[in-house]
Amino acid sequence: MGCAAAWALSARGAEVTVYEQFDLDHDRGSSHGRTRIVRLSYPDAGWVRLARESMDGWRELEADAEQELLGLYGIVELAPRREMTSARGLDACGVEYTWLDADGARALGAALPNGWIALLQPEAGIVRADLARHAFLDVARGRGVRVEAGRRIDSLDDLDSDVVVVTTGWWIRELVPDVPVTVTRETVCYFRREGQPAPAIVELDEITRGHGMYSLYDPVHGLKAGEHHRGPVAEPNGDGAPDPASVARVSAWVASRLPTVEPEPIAAETCPYTSTADGSFVLERRGRIVVGSACSGHGFKFAPFVGRRLADLALQ
Ligand SMILES: Cc1cc2nc3c(=O)[nH]c(=O)nc-3n(C[C@H](O)[C@H](O)[C@H](O)COP(=O)(O)OP(=O)(O)OC[C@H]3O[C@@H](n4cnc5c(N)ncnc54)[C@H](O)[C@@H]3O)c2cc1C
Repeated sequence: MGCAAAWALSARGAEVTVYEQFDLDHDRGSSHGRTRIVRLSYPDAGWVRLARESMDGWRELEADAEQELLGLYGIVELAPRREMTSARGLDACGVEYTWLDADGARALGAALPNGWIALLQPEAGIVRADLARHAFLDVARGRGVRVEAGRRIDSLDDLDSDVVVVTTGWWIRELVPDVPVTVTRETVCYFRREGQPAPAIVELDEITRGHGMYSLYDPVHGLKAGEHHRGPVAEPNGDGAPDPASVARVSAWVASRLPTVEPEPIAAETCPYTSTADGSFVLERRGRIVVGSACSGHGFKFAPFVGRRLADLALQ
């Protein structure tokens, strides 16, 4: 989110310095790794609109950086009932999708349980997260932004700039203590899958009405999969080991729903979610401070929108 804010601010002529406490490719925050899901599919029309704006933003970043960052292989939602899918939000925004039966789902690599429904939306897939972070920064640097890695900010008073945009992920409360977020440590797994990139496949959860399990293309192993919002509450910098119980549940899901994938995980890692109660983002200005906490486990796809919103707030 900080890289995206620097990109958006530099496009508007602001003088910007980015501070990063570690090196630029560290894996201790929320944005490491090769891929994140991008999608328009949300049951709520407001999120669909933001996702569409963000998709346009990704294409603009691709043009700015002269680099391909998106892989639009589609997304398939698996659900026990139609009302649980994103159809409502997509209909409200005039976004096309198709319903799949068991044969259609199988052709895309998913085993649909009896009586379930599947929704395919093609304008979805992956953003290359590692490349995207660097693309934001490279374009920003080209416009004069300074980047200081290995520089931890202990107090916002140490910075004498007109405005400070704080996008410190799960460390947000160290600098802005009253941001209403909870942090959980989530486990993700990698599986061997051969062949061409395939659509992301997500299973909708009856209780949370959101994603239960998810999977997406990984350019190295073939498949990345995980469970959404199931990890334990965590503190920044604590133990980062994957949860074996989560690895077992994800592997069982892969075995039952993704028959073309080898169900033995090759690797697992963790990543924190910094979540508000309703999954929304905290994007607000308080005096010279702009707070940008955009995660809740689904923030990456919105980075171009978030960067621009933070730039608007900073330049107000
Ligand atoms: C397992 C997992 C899967 C996800 N899947 C998806 C997905 O498929 N699609 C999607 O859209 N989203 C997804 N997300 C969410 C998305 O990854 C996050 O919304 C996003 O990465 C949050 O980025 P951020 O910039 O807020 O935080 P971070 O990436 O953590 O960045 C914060 C940065 O601030 C630095 N920092 C902190 N404190 C200081 C300080 N005092 N001084 C200097 N620097 C500091 C940190 O070192 C860090 O680099 C997923 C998240 C996880 C964890």
